[in-house]
Amino acid sequence: MLIVDNLSSRYGRIEVLHGLSLEVKQGEIVTLVGSNGAGKTTLLRAISGVQPMSGGSVKFLGQPIDRLAPHVRVAQGIVQVPEGRQVFSPLSVEDNLKLGAWSRKDGEVATDIEGVYATFPVLAEKRHLPAGALSGGQQQMLAMGRALMARPKLMLLDEPSMGLAPILVDQIFAIIGGLKRQGITVLLVEQNAYAALAIADRGYVIETGRISHTGTGRELLNDARVRTAYLGL
Ligand code: ATP
Repeated sequence: MLIVDNLSSRYGRIEVLHGLSLEVKQGEIVTLVGSNGAGKTTLLRAISGVQPMSGGSVKFLGQPIDRLAPHVRVAQGIVQVPEGRQVFSPLSVEDNLKLGAWSRKDGEVATDIEGVYATFPVLAEKRHLPAGALSGGQQQMLAMGRALMARPKLMLLDEPSMGLAPILVDQIFAIIGGLKRQGITVLLVEQNAYAALAIADRGYVIETGRISHTGTGRELLNDARVRTAYLGL
């Protein structure tokens, strides 16, 4: 579904991704683990088109997308849930959800909002409150709900469990499993490497802008280097 080939990206003169390649197949959950600053966020942003590439290519559903504007990629089904949620705080929960559907031209937005409320009942209760009044976990649900409103085929999730209490972390991982069951493919970046590899079909380890190893979620959970460096075991 997504093929990233030899991707490089830089901030000014400093290259932070150095020819990185990976693949995400339809229906998979693929987890990226790596230390702070390894380049995970930059990679997701390059895939969604908000971070320029300096080399390589990205294909989605068989077509090159590297020259497409971010909103065109959204319309094709690639939607990123950014690190730190980035909900529109003064706007109501419901208006945040509507914004997630801005690129759509069909008339089924109201139905999809109800679908998001069925997945996240707490958002239905708070639909008229400003998003800024929600807790961190609820804002994460809103960010994911807003992404769902674009009817994504591939969801790029950047640190969805960051800063959440353990019970909410479990809930977010359960929701990610639910996305897969709905047929949405997921590329997941997580500091919580154990839980993220446990739900993954496959994973990649990224070290200073390069893929250092890859395998099934189970293989990486059992890999001695991954256990020492990322799982604290
Ligand atoms: P984290 O988990 O801390 O978010 P990450 O793996 O997502 O880390 P990136 O945020 O992609 O890593 O950062 C990769 C490198 O690029 C780091 O060295 C970082 O300091 C640098 N970097 C990130 N954003 C910028 C920016 N806007 N300008 C300059 N350098 C940046």
